[in-house]
Amino acid sequence: MHIPFCAHKCHYCDFYSLVDPRDRQGSFVDRLGRELHALAPWGRGASLATIFVGGGTPSLLPPFLWDRLLGVLHEAFDLTSLEEFSVECNPESVSPELFSTLVRGGVTRVSMGAQSFNPSHLKTLERRHSPGNAGRALAMARDAGIPRQSIDLIFGIPGQTLDDWKHDLDDALALGTEHLSCYNLTYEPGTAMTARLKRGEFTPADEDVEVEMFRITLSAARGAGLERYEVSNFAKPGAQCRHNLVYWRGGNWLAAGPSASGHINGHRWKNTPRLDDYLSIDRDGFAPVSEHETPDPGRALTERLMTGLRLSEGLERAWVVAQATALHAGAASGLARAIERQTALGFLETDPARLCLTDAGFLVGDSVILELAGALDL
Ligand code: SF4
Repeated sequence: MHIPFCAHKCHYCDFYSLVDPRDRQGSFVDRLGRELHALAPWGRGASLATIFVGGGTPSLLPPFLWDRLLGVLHEAFDLTSLEEFSVECNPESVSPELFSTLVRGGVTRVSMGAQSFNPSHLKTLERRHSPGNAGRALAMARDAGIPRQSIDLIFGIPGQTLDDWKHDLDDALALGTEHLSCYNLTYEPGTAMTARLKRGEFTPADEDVEVEMFRITLSAARGAGLERYEVSNFAKPGAQCRHNLVYWRGGNWLAAGPSASGHINGHRWKNTPRLDDYLSIDRDGFAPVSEHETPDPGRALTERLMTGLRLSEGLERAWVVAQATALHAGAASGLARAIERQTALGFLETDPARLCLTDAGFLVGDSVILELAGALDL
C-alpha cells in the first residue's frame, strides 16, 4: 500500500510522493478503503500473508486516519494468517499514540528511515530529523509493542568519509536492530539533487570509496550477527522482510494506492502515480492503472534473473536452465556461456544446485545480471 504524502520533498527522492497543501489525507484514506474493498475478492482465495505500507511517509497519516484505514483492512480481508505487517516510518513523524493505533491494527514491524546519524549528512539529504530521533522513535515503537524493527541507511552521500559511514553503521547496529537496509545514494533523473549535480554544486562520492563502503557494510553487519540476504538488506536469522522476499522470489501481491505496483501470475500493473487521478477516477473502487503487462515467458525469466539473483539464495539452476531451454534453441546455450564466464571471473558461485552471486559478485551484481539476461537473446 502506497501512502503518497510527505512533509517535505527530499531532493534525492524519485518515489511518487507530494507535499499536499490541500489537506486531502482524509479523502485519500476513504478512496484507499474503496480500492481495498475492490481488491478484496482477489485476496480472499489465499488469505493475506504479509502487508507492507510504504510511501511517501505512512507515519504522516494521523492516528485517527490510520484507525479508519486499519478498520477497512480488517473488514475487507482475511488476516487470520497474517505473518508480517510492516509500516515505513520517518523518525520525526511518530508518536506513542500512532504506534498504539498500529499495534491495535495488527502491525508487527516498523521500517525506520534513519538514513544517517550524522547531522551534516542528514542536512545534505534534506532530512529533517536529528540524529537521536531514530533511536527514540524505535524505542517508542518497541514500548508500544511492535517487536520487529528495521533501519534504513544511505551511503555514498557527498562529503561522507569511510569513517563517517562506519559510525553510521555502528550507531544503527548499537540500537540492536534485527534488520538493516543500506542503499547507495543514486542520482535519479528528474530529481533536484541530480540537477544540482549537473550544475556542479557538489562532488559525488568516489566510486572506489563507495565500493569500500559496501565492503565495510558487509563486515559490520556480519559482526553484529546480521547476514546479507539481498544486495542491500541484512538480517538476523529469521528476521528477513517476508513481504519483500515475495517480490524477489516472484510471488503474487496486490497493490493499493497511487503508484503501487502489483503482480498476479505474470500480470504486472502499476497504479497511475497521480493523486488527482486516484481521487477522481474510481472504476468500481479500482485505481486508474498506467502500466499493464501480460504474461510473457521471456520477460518472466529476465525478471526472475534480475530479482532472484539479488538474493543470496539466488535461483535454482535446473529451473533457470529449463526456462531458458523452453524459450528458444540459443537461449540455454547463450546463458550457459555467460554463466561460465561470470563464474570464471569469480562473480558467480560454483554451487551445482543454485545460481548465486559471490561476495565479489554482489559488488558488480547489476553488470552480472545484465550479461545473463542479455545472453537469452530475446
Ligand atoms: S520522506 Fe522518503 S518518500 Fe518522502 S520525499 Fe523524503 S525520501 Fe522521498
